[in-house]
Amino acid sequence: RFQTPTNLRNQAPLRCGRSLAMESQKPMFDVEKFDDEFVQKLVYDALVWSSLHGLVVGDRAYQKSGKVPGVGMTHAPIALLPTPFPETYWKQACEVAPIFNELVDRVSLDGKFIQDSLSRTKKADIFTSRLLDIHSKMLESNKKEDIRLGLHRSDYMLDEETKSLLQIEMNTISSSFSGLGRLVSELHQSLLRSYGDQLGLDSERVPKNASTSQFADAMAKAWLEYNNPRAVIMVVVQPEERNMKTLAEVEKEGRVQEDGTLTVGGQAVAVVYFRSGYSPNDYPSESEWNARLLIEESSAVKCPSIAYHLTGTKKIQQELAKPGVLERFLDSKEDISKLRKCFAGLWSLDDPEIIKKAIEKPELFVMKPQREGGGNNIYGDDVRENLLRLQKEGEEENAAYILMQRIFPKVSEMFLVRDGVHHKDQSISELGIYGAYLRNKERVIINEQSGYLMRTKVSSSNEGGVAAGFAVLDSIYLN
Ligand code: ADP
Ligand code: MG
Ligand code: MG
Repeated sequence: RFQTPTNLRNQAPLRCGRSLAMESQKPMFDVEKFDDEFVQKLVYDALVWSSLHGLVVGDRAYQKSGKVPGVGMTHAPIALLPTPFPETYWKQACEVAPIFNELVDRVSLDGKFIQDSLSRTKKADIFTSRLLDIHSKMLESNKKEDIRLGLHRSDYMLDEETKSLLQIEMNTISSSFSGLGRLVSELHQSLLRSYGDQLGLDSERVPKNASTSQFADAMAKAWLEYNNPRAVIMVVVQPEERNMKTLAEVEKEGRVQEDGTLTVGGQAVAVVYFRSGYSPNDYPSESEWNARLLIEESSAVKCPSIAYHLTGTKKIQQELAKPGVLERFLDSKEDISKLRKCFAGLWSLDDPEIIKKAIEKPELFVMKPQREGGGNNIYGDDVRENLLRLQKEGEEENAAYILMQRIFPKVSEMFLVRDGVHHKDQSISELGIYGAYLRNKERVIINEQSGYLMRTKVSSSNEGGVAAGFAVLDSIYLN
């Protein structure tokens, strides 16, 4: 009864509940045909597994959640089964991870490129402007980051029309869910070990995912490079997560010593890992900006540095996609063509041709401000309206945005589980590939693909974002 992968590829047999194998070429497992009792059983096991293994998130409905550690948790929103994903694209996404890591590092060293690329954005977007101010201060004082730690996540969708793997964006700050990414892969592997026979699926086809330990290992190695055994790793979080440091606390308790050492509450800090600081909401007052500057001025390893942070902006993504720009940063022609292959159409709003096209066919574009964390993009008729508004308002304002080709991934029927309840929905998926990079001056210590995260959302939702409430955590099933 064991189905080999080859077998699966050829005929995708399916057995569920007490019904016998049903054969269909596509989709690989047709959830239409799952009987209810079987689905209930899977959901039950998935929820038990999640609780036992810490595949949980804070429950906003519970008042003490986020204030008292260990109190008020619920299972993470999940896809019940892994999403089929072609192996060739999986390999492609893994292969470019170290090249993107290298690219971020090279771009981060070119202060002028960052400042020039964002110079118009600076005028239109106060948040980016404040980040750039910190960046210019560092350039003026000739501040060098010898030890550079990048924990990135490059996101992709498989465009159904062109059959290509296209990059959605590169995250260089607060790349989320490397902790839960590993767990959701393990959940799916575990379910397939129990029910693989009935499903006609092989748990080995869910790729191993060491995202958590690889990121932790990179942080630990950065700490080693810093070489002060008494110094700690500080995780900077948003408020409501009480057992770590917020930016406001860093401002209150933080100092930079003569020798550049950052101390917080008298404790030396080797590595600062930002789980906050990527959104204007993270800077409700000048204190937070002061703290960000203080950290940047210190010798602590920052993940990310201000330069890495800015390199991850959508504006830089768009600049890098222009002809000839990658060539400024990378030497290998082969690497360049591998990256370029996953670039979607990206434009600034000072191109009248593209504006005209986007006003005519807004459904083929996404309009993006310089923001992170989901829920900020503009789609459909709103693209047209906003472009028309910006045309009236004149030049300056439009530099806050970029335009991107809209990617249309394949829609498939999936079971999504949230708050203990499962829904069968038409869904689309976005694959995130983690990348860790650590270097000390000329010595590259780590440059690797570091696990993955699939996020799946109902196809009618424009935005992704698990924390933002649009998507669920998922893994992949190679086919
Ligand atoms: P953020 O930094 O806020 O996560 P993204 O660029 O990732 O910004 O956009 C948020 C979500 O919007 C993505 O997860 C994806 O679901 C959707 N999205 C972004 N760009 C595109 C695109 N070009 N085509 C289709 N969907 C997109
Ligand atoms: Mg992002
Ligand atoms: Mg994103």
